[in-house]
Amino acid sequence: MKTIGVIGGMSWESSTEYYRLLNRHAKARLGGHHNARSLMLTVDFAPIEANQRAGNWTALGDQLADAARQLERGGADLVILATNTMHRVYESIEQAIDVPFLHIADPTGNALRAAGITRVGLLGTRYTMEQTFYTGRLSERYDLETLIPNEAERADVHRIIYDELCHGNVNDASRAVYQRVIDELAARGAQAVILGCTEITLLIKPEDSALPVFDTTALHAQAAVDWAIEPV
Ligand code: GLU
Repeated sequence: MKTIGVIGGMSWESSTEYYRLLNRHAKARLGGHHNARSLMLTVDFAPIEANQRAGNWTALGDQLADAARQLERGGADLVILATNTMHRVYESIEQAIDVPFLHIADPTGNALRAAGITRVGLLGTRYTMEQTFYTGRLSERYDLETLIPNEAERADVHRIIYDELCHGNVNDASRAVYQRVIDELAARGAQAVILGCTEITLLIKPEDSALPVFDTTALHAQAAVDWAIEPV
């Protein structure tokens, strides 16, 4: 089995999910005492979050490129980045390493296409919902039409991620907010919803959603393990 290198810490609450899901999926695939060979480099999220707000994406790209190089030097055969938002700078990471980088939108795009979905709602940070780095890839590579919540809903979705979920606070009132946003996306014609932030999996389970859920954290972790078992 190949070794998966994870750039984590954004936030660490979702990195723990990655760790669990990587090992769960390896065991599901291989049985017995198998788990996933992995390395995780946890960055400090405080300066990263401040640089996001300041729009210092070039500096963030350089920092994550360094993290990817460290994972490669440590023996990673594949690098993954355990956050949707920071895929804004994925090119900097990909260019810094010789081993493959698995973009988080790709397993999700593949799963949506396999399910026959063509119009999908997207929940994530403001950066992921409002900038084009994520929706553009889904459109260009997977021919998916993406619907995002309205301005007030986006503010709520974003705030709940940073003020609650990244601190490990999962509460019923916020789940109800997300459920209303999902209902609205369904009313506008979304056939499914992407949990496009790696902490949303803490709040919304498939049974909480009126729409089928495509959870980027789970799909990304599973695809990494599938690659580690059978590199393609
Ligand atoms: N983990 C989140 C994501 O998947 C948000 C935190 C971050 O800005 O990285 O987008």
